[in-house]
Amino acid sequence: MFGKGSKLYSIFRNKCPRCHEGDFFKHKISFNPKKVTKLHDNCPNCDLKYMMEPSFYFGAMYVNYAIAVALFVVVFIIAKILIGLSIFESFIAIILVSLVLTPVSLRLSRIVWINLFVSYKKKKELNSLRKEPA
Ligand SMILES: [Zn+2]
Repeated sequence: MFGKGSKLYSIFRNKCPRCHEGDFFKHKISFNPKKVTKLHDNCPNCDLKYMMEPSFYFGAMYVNYAIAVALFVVVFIIAKILIGLSIFESFIAIILVSLVLTPVSLRLSRIVWINLFVSYKKKKELNSLRKEPA
């Protein structure tokens, strides 16, 4: 399920959605807002253009929203029901956890978004793509 060829492999290893070899992000995860979502222009391995059209990653906002809502629900359930915090404390916990996990959700949403549009190609298929005249 997490092997090469599945979208989860690309998503959780931050690899190119087409070849699953090249890195997707330029930098390791950090809190530096200039670095955290910086992508390579093209895949270093298969040359897939990551910015497929202008403002391509605008749509990742919807994915980020879904991730954020899921995170809020999970943190709220853990804080309120499992730990037994008050409503106010639970909301503080939600804010803190979402701030800490902002870089994770930003990157996750981008790579999920590109994985919706690009699917994995085996080496043979990639080679035939390269031979076609541009
Ligand atoms: Zn690639």
